[in-house]
Amino acid sequence: MDYTTQMDAARKGIVTPEMKAAAAKEEMDVKELMELMAKGQAIIPANKRHTSLSPAAIGSRLKTKINVNLGISRDCKDMDVEVAKVNSAVAMGAESIMDLSSYGDTRTFRRRLTSECPAIIGTVPIYDAVVYYHKPLKEITSQEWLDIVKMHAEDGVDFMTIHCGINRETAGKFKRNKRLTNIVSRGGSIIFAWMEMTGEENPFYEHYDEILDICREYDITMSLGDACRPGCLKDASDISQIEELITLGELTKRAWEKDVQVMVEGPGHMPLDQIAANMKIQQTICQGAPFYVLGPLVTDVAPGYDHITAAIGGAVAAAYGASFLCYVTPAEHLRLPDLEDVKEGIIASRIAAHAADVAKGIKGAVDWDNRMSEARKKLDWEGMFELSIDPEKARRYRASAKPEKEDTCSMCGNFCAVKNMNRILDGEIVNIYDE
Ligand code: SF4
Repeated sequence: MDYTTQMDAARKGIVTPEMKAAAAKEEMDVKELMELMAKGQAIIPANKRHTSLSPAAIGSRLKTKINVNLGISRDCKDMDVEVAKVNSAVAMGAESIMDLSSYGDTRTFRRRLTSECPAIIGTVPIYDAVVYYHKPLKEITSQEWLDIVKMHAEDGVDFMTIHCGINRETAGKFKRNKRLTNIVSRGGSIIFAWMEMTGEENPFYEHYDEILDICREYDITMSLGDACRPGCLKDASDISQIEELITLGELTKRAWEKDVQVMVEGPGHMPLDQIAANMKIQQTICQGAPFYVLGPLVTDVAPGYDHITAAIGGAVAAAYGASFLCYVTPAEHLRLPDLEDVKEGIIASRIAAHAADVAKGIKGAVDWDNRMSEARKKLDWEGMFELSIDPEKARRYRASAKPEKEDTCSMCGNFCAVKNMNRILDGEIVNIYDE
């Protein structure tokens, strides 16, 4: 192999098997994808050790992808149950799984994913370090943090969220500029607490070059974590968020200098009217590196419905340039999601992603809608079910309220506009009242 990473290959004009597979999924010319990858505007997270991977590309000119967070935890520690959740998430259309395991034998679970799962696998080494070392946070050394990154690389994960943007300078700005909800990123809060207790610089920032060397060796995509992502509408676009984003822009350039693929993580909670501007700022500062957003949640008052608040924000974010949506479930802010929550979160994210793809004019996106509209016009119920984003729910709803007239539905019955228009345009008499 005469390249190190997918980005290195793209810059050398080498078409890799991963590029071919990803381009086929996008229905695009592989050379076009390669050019985007050479500029850092598209990525294929693909650890050389992830043997079961079905490669997919992420970038704002490509289909919007979605990520699902899963993993073993103290309250859900059965590995087989969690693997079953992963498999159903992939079957429901998740292109990526983030393993956020925080309990027990995390390494065995991680290795199982990278040997069995075709989805892109991401992790957050900071969480795992706390579980792995079994000791108080402040006693974890800089070297130990880095050793966990190396371990995840060896285990075959395709991307890692590394919270390297919150250095001592950003932390100082955060403390001087009070927020309503402080730091809500789990990894961000851990590394901030570690810096406060030890007085040391963030090891992921201080030893960034060493981390890049690991990423280059295994072809890990850096997902530059946003410790200061806003956790409420009031904190959106504040000094801490923008200060960290500037650092992430600098770190993006440094990664590219070593041919390491990068995406940048983003908000969080954000009023609808700020989303487009935030996408533009990220694209400018990070020079088009793919933007991976959590939400954004466009209101703070809907616990139980945050898959909807996130889907509204996600659709707008992706329409304005975000490439990758982290799903949010109805359980957000309330509890660990169960299987039904996972399903609702995935469907909501897929709707947001598809709505954005239609708005962006992504090849083939609107064709799906047009096929559905054809089926609706023909009152072809089986066709409608097959084209539904959630066929099971569509079938269940229709079956739950059978109409008197089989071709219509119980919403309008004889007043079915579709049926009546078809008939009148075919030259039939339409009475409605006594039919
Ligand atoms: S009955 Fe009403 S809602 Fe149902 S298919 Fe016809 S027009 Fe649409």
